[in-house]
Amino acid sequence: MISQQQQQAMTEAVARIRDTMAQAARAAGRDPASVQLCAACKTRTVEEVRFSAGLAIDLFGENHVQELVEKADAGAYEGKPGHFIGHLQTNKVNKVVGRAALIQSVDSQRLLEKIDAAAGRLGLVQDILLEINIGEESSKSGVTQDSLWPLLDEASTREHLRLRGLMAIPPADADESQTRRFFARMRELLEKAAALGLPNAQMDILSMGMSGDYAAAIAEGATIVRIGTAIYGARDYSKK
Ligand SMILES: *Cc1c(COP(=O)(O)O)cnc(C)c1O
Repeated sequence: MISQQQQQAMTEAVARIRDTMAQAARAAGRDPASVQLCAACKTRTVEEVRFSAGLAIDLFGENHVQELVEKADAGAYEGKPGHFIGHLQTNKVNKVVGRAALIQSVDSQRLLEKIDAAAGRLGLVQDILLEINIGEESSKSGVTQDSLWPLLDEASTREHLRLRGLMAIPPADADESQTRRFFARMRELLEKAAALGLPNAQMDILSMGMSGDYAAAIAEGATIVRIGTAIYGARDYSKK
């Protein structure tokens, strides 16, 4: 069960976020409908997610395979798409392919191959994004900007994959103007990648921006923002 206060807080938070999203889009000369709100719902319960699914959230993003399986199979997303946005281990690919409408965090050739094979076995085409380690941080997953190009070539040869675009998480310690430049760089990379006209590709998604910086991400072209804390409040890892 979730409390009345919690329901009201979530309702107001999502309304505020949609307002800010729409303002940021209009200020950039963009249609507000061109930006989707992904609720990053790691650690949130089935009940919390189910309630939030009734609000103006477009889709859900999960970081952990077990949470995706649990919430997807419980119907917590109420028919809205679930995406995978966390680091995906190759031995868990089978649980994600087919369940996630989009795997946003593909960052190696081995992972590409496993996803393609799993999608082939299910007779479907899996939409994917490639994750860029835009701040070149050693602690982060994602590919470097240089290794994006061979990975794009590789992905485009796979019939059970459809490349939809790019995703990134800029360094947490970057200041506002640095973060803005990382977002701008991401858009340049997406435009360059789209201009290649690769097979099995429809490069129209740029997933970037979180609770603290989503307006800047929208100003630089984000089509999906992934927001957790600003919707659900601070995460409590001690309960897990
Ligand atoms: C947790 C998470 C988010 C959301 O972060 P908040 O700061 O809580 O909005 C976005 N993207 C990814 C990949 C995440 O893991």
